[in-house]
Amino acid sequence: MNAPQGAWRLTLSYAFGAALWVLFSDGLLMALELSVAQQERVQLLKGLGFVLLTSALLYSILRSHQQHQQQGHRALLRSEKRLHQALEAAGGGIWDWDLQHQQVYFSPGYAALLGIRPETLGVDPLQWQQHLHPDDRVAFERNIQRRMSTLSTAPYEVSYRLQHQDGSYRWIQSRGRLLLDKHGQPERLIGTASDITQRRKDEDSLRQAAVVFDATQEGVLVTDAQQHVVHCNPAFTRITGYSEKEILGQSPSILKSGRHDKDFYNSLWQALKNRGAWSGEVWNRRKSGEIYPQWQCIREIRDGQGEVSHYVAVFSDITALKRSQQELDYLAHHDPLSNLPNRLLFTERVEHALERGRIDGYSGAVMLIDLDHFKHINESLGHNIGDLLLKDVGERLSQQLGKRMTLARLGGDEFGLLDESCGSPEQAAVLAQRLQTCMSSVFQINQQELFITASIGISLYPDDADDVGQILRNADSALFKAKNSGRESYAFYSQELTAHAHQRVELASALRHALDHQELRVYYQPLICLRNQHVIGVEALVRWQHPQRGLVAPGEFIPVAEETGLISAIDAWVLEHSCRQMVAWQAAGYALKFVAVNVSSRLFSRGELDHRVAEVLRATGLDPACLELEVTESAVMDNPDAALALLQRLRALGIRLAIDDFGTGYSSLARLKRLPVHKLKIDQSFISGLPHDPSDVAITRTVIALGHSLGLKVLAEGIEQVEQVELLQQLGCDHAQGYYFGRPQPADQLAARLAARSDTPHT
Ligand code: C2E
Ligand code: MG
Ligand code: MG
Repeated sequence: MNAPQGAWRLTLSYAFGAALWVLFSDGLLMALELSVAQQERVQLLKGLGFVLLTSALLYSILRSHQQHQQQGHRALLRSEKRLHQALEAAGGGIWDWDLQHQQVYFSPGYAALLGIRPETLGVDPLQWQQHLHPDDRVAFERNIQRRMSTLSTAPYEVSYRLQHQDGSYRWIQSRGRLLLDKHGQPERLIGTASDITQRRKDEDSLRQAAVVFDATQEGVLVTDAQQHVVHCNPAFTRITGYSEKEILGQSPSILKSGRHDKDFYNSLWQALKNRGAWSGEVWNRRKSGEIYPQWQCIREIRDGQGEVSHYVAVFSDITALKRSQQELDYLAHHDPLSNLPNRLLFTERVEHALERGRIDGYSGAVMLIDLDHFKHINESLGHNIGDLLLKDVGERLSQQLGKRMTLARLGGDEFGLLDESCGSPEQAAVLAQRLQTCMSSVFQINQQELFITASIGISLYPDDADDVGQILRNADSALFKAKNSGRESYAFYSQELTAHAHQRVELASALRHALDHQELRVYYQPLICLRNQHVIGVEALVRWQHPQRGLVAPGEFIPVAEETGLISAIDAWVLEHSCRQMVAWQAAGYALKFVAVNVSSRLFSRGELDHRVAEVLRATGLDPACLELEVTESAVMDNPDAALALLQRLRALGIRLAIDDFGTGYSSLARLKRLPVHKLKIDQSFISGLPHDPSDVAITRTVIALGHSLGLKVLAEGIEQVEQVELLQQLGCDHAQGYYFGRPQPADQLAARLAARSDTPHT
């Protein structure tokens, strides 16, 4: 029953009771038959009783009503307080906008949102609007108008910025509702407001983080504390091949490659536990099964209670990086031309082999393989051909490799071979021979047929040495020995070789001393005209009159002099000495046509030779036509253009020029044709095979024909037998030189011979 009904019922009951009383109380009195005075008194008492009763009733009604009202008011206050407290706890406030009187009520909580007191905020809505951010005014007004025009009483929610006391703007979220009066007209707008500035900030950061999360190139994987994947980004899918759907709820262990052992993961977890983070390289497996390296950082995320709630793994695929690292590593350890290991890797391998040899007692061999006269190929045919040949040589040598062998290109035309299974010198010798044999067939390079031989120096470990530097030096000494013993041969390192190296050092200083102390001598070997076997000239050949060792041949000291640079002083001395001797012979009436002087290729390449020769000719007064300079084929072909210019300048001086040791180098016929020389001297290595060796005969015949066709004289070196003389005469060779006609000898001895022949006419 509601309150008005209850009130009606009570009032009716009262009216009915009171009416009954009024109607029947007097009748009742009459029935008592009282006296008038009594009746009057009873009447008074009755009236007073009625008043008393109704007053008591009224009092009790009023009292109960008042109590109800007080209870309601208290409940209202309590609930209002609760609401305020709740709003304050939530950091909010209440507003109530009386639309009819255009007044707003702001709760203290509301004013607190803006850092001011409620009085300051006032009741005027226009005053409140002063706080509204200019950019939010239009939206705010539009919302109010919409409410007014639609008369929608549905709750609504808007956000706008209000200026705080400190000048900053705070984002306020306002939830409100339009209330209508009994005529359905807008009466009030009422609602709550709360500061959502921080929430907006957080939402912004989250939005930004989400963009980064999606756009980053790094794969991101988030798991819960139990390691079930709860989130991954697009980069994760791109790298691993797993879609979000496939990976969610899974354990990241499905990405494991199996490359890492238990210890690896144990230490990872340990680091996570101790430091809350781990980073390092991990090999994982893509969905396709491919294993790839990634750089991974894992971090734990803890909740408010400090408990691990999630793990985040951020990783990048470093396959490309690894590949380029590997490539760099490969480049650092390999020769780009031949793709063979380079000196660095070779040295490492030898070091490793020596180490193993020490531990396991294995022995092995290190070989240095050097191509004979490779320089000439490079320089006469060009570096491109040279490079292609080196590549082919590398390939051919590689085909001979067995197990536990490493072939490397150490630089230039030098290759290194490490044989870790070589147990004896014999085995090494067999391998060296095999390597040399494999080189013997023709190399086909750019439609050119090339032949090349190799010399090999061998050092055995642990017998010869047990450190890498020493073993390489030993192999180098052995190579030197091999080269000296006539190319295309192999030699072993021995102690004597080391001694030899020491000797060379000593020799260089002794040679310096020899120059200063006039220990050099010039011997002269007659040069013969083959037609009549008359002496036409002499070749000046240097000797060293060593105080202890006696006469030392140039073959022993010229290479050392070339290495140390002493050669220029020696050659200058020989040139001047020979020219003076020639002038003396001429003055004495000997009919020698010329003196031939050797010029080192070192000196030749310097270019100022013509000045020196001119100076000597001027100083000695020798007729330039009586001087012949012998330059080796290789000296000319080393730098053909510069050589050509120098030869032309020398020839302009009026001297004669001869190419010495012809046939041992790689002359280009095209270039030879242009050289302003007078003579070719066929190297004695071809003459020594005459008259029996058919290929030497063929070569000699060809060189003679070639020389003649170029308009040159041809001289054969090293004639020791009469048969050689006869054959060369038949072949039409012009001149000769050799022990058969006379050994190199001191000037005075030769003078005696020349004197003896002086009665015969010279040609
Ligand atoms: P080369 O210019 O080819 O000199 C010829 C060499 O052959 C000389 O050796 C000579 O003694 C040797 N010889 C001549 N006839 C015969 C023979 O019938 N049989 C044999 N087996 N050998 C013969 P040598 O005097 O020992 O000189 C060797 C090389 O040293 C020369 O070869 C030359 O290249 C170089 N040389 C000599 N003197 C000088 C010099 O003053 N300056 C320079 N730069 N080099 C020189
Ligand atoms: Mg010579
Ligand atoms: Mg010669």
